[in-house]
Amino acid sequence: MTNLEKNDPLVYDILQEELKRQCDHLEMIASENFTYPSVMEAMGSVFTNKYAEGYPKKRYYGGCEYADKIEQLAIDRACELFGSKFANVQPNSGSQANQAVYQAFLKPYDKILGMDLSHGGHLTHGAKVNSSGKLYQSFFYGVELDGRINYDRVLDIAKIVKPKMIVCGASAYPRELDFKKFREIADEVGAILFADIAHIAGLVVAGEHPDPFPYCDVVSTTTHKTLRGPRGGVILTNDEEMAKKINSAIFPGIQGGPLVHVIAAKAVGFGENLKPEWKIYAKQVKSNTKVLADVLIKRGYDVVSGGSDNHLVLVSFLNKDFSGKDAEIALNSAGITVNKNTVPGERRSPFVTSGIRIGSPALSARGMKTQEFEVIANKIADILDDIENINLQKEIKEQMKELAQNFIIYDRATY
Ligand SMILES: *Cc1c(COP(=O)(O)O)cnc(C)c1O
Repeated sequence: MTNLEKNDPLVYDILQEELKRQCDHLEMIASENFTYPSVMEAMGSVFTNKYAEGYPKKRYYGGCEYADKIEQLAIDRACELFGSKFANVQPNSGSQANQAVYQAFLKPYDKILGMDLSHGGHLTHGAKVNSSGKLYQSFFYGVELDGRINYDRVLDIAKIVKPKMIVCGASAYPRELDFKKFREIADEVGAILFADIAHIAGLVVAGEHPDPFPYCDVVSTTTHKTLRGPRGGVILTNDEEMAKKINSAIFPGIQGGPLVHVIAAKAVGFGENLKPEWKIYAKQVKSNTKVLADVLIKRGYDVVSGGSDNHLVLVSFLNKDFSGKDAEIALNSAGITVNKNTVPGERRSPFVTSGIRIGSPALSARGMKTQEFEVIANKIADILDDIENINLQKEIKEQMKELAQNFIIYDRATY
């Protein structure tokens, strides 16, 4: 019996229910993944007790010798992994990493140019409801009707806006980002170039997506999406002056004591990303996504941009009489978890949308390969073809549960 089971059965039971949900469903939300049990052990460690405001060897508290050791290890591994000179491993999330980047280099009312949320960008890239859109004057570029960024258009917009910073990176873009082109645009208008690779970092570090360095001045990422580490963020740069500004922006700028247990877990996650097996995983993520896209196209679905170069596909239902929300609900009742998403040419509200985003990182982490993805993609098409057929959804749910049970990710002892 675990301590939790003994001392707080109510919480324990909820955790067990969530464990069962994660094991029995097919998790295809593109931003989610299954982290390593070793990462969870580090995250659940005694470092959760430690205050360590400041940075290694420059702390505001005593007793930080091991906090220093673990943070330095996380920094060194991050630098090796991303090929950068400096890393800040303290951001509590991807959003806080981005908030710190803005605070480090911008003054209120400065102009930023990012990707439109409804075109696949992130809230933190200047959306009006986010602090990035309230503190700074935000402007946007997007994708064309073919689902791709047109870099000539981005340049045209940049010339008009004259932003202090250009943000490149997305949460729902199925194609490669051309960081070199973004660099040329940034140089043309004298902007700082900031890449937010939250979604694609796991592919980048495996050499399966072009590297933002040396083109970008600053790079941020989450550690829990394709990187498969603990929830959190990291900021990278090769410029010493910029690194100092980033450090001050994180602490004391926007955060207090760092989550040392999460930093320990980040070190473990980076360690996994540095192993040769990581490249095999990243390759598999891409080939699984490709099968997903190919099957859906073959089954007559409109896959945005005609395919995928990375870990996700966007499917558009603009030519169908059901919405992204309908599709999300139907797939969920068949045990397949995806999320609704706006698509190029969107006509519905962001709460309804005309598309879904489907990702392969989590199921790839369970060991599923192209063979399983072909089966799953066909089941997705079966459900969408007959979206009101509740019995079919029930039937497929049982089949998907059976499939999932052949790919054990965690056992009960995980807690
Ligand atoms: C997920 C995401 C973030 C934010 O990460 P959180 O940890 O959820 O705050 C930032 N940028 C992009 C592009 C993302 O996809």
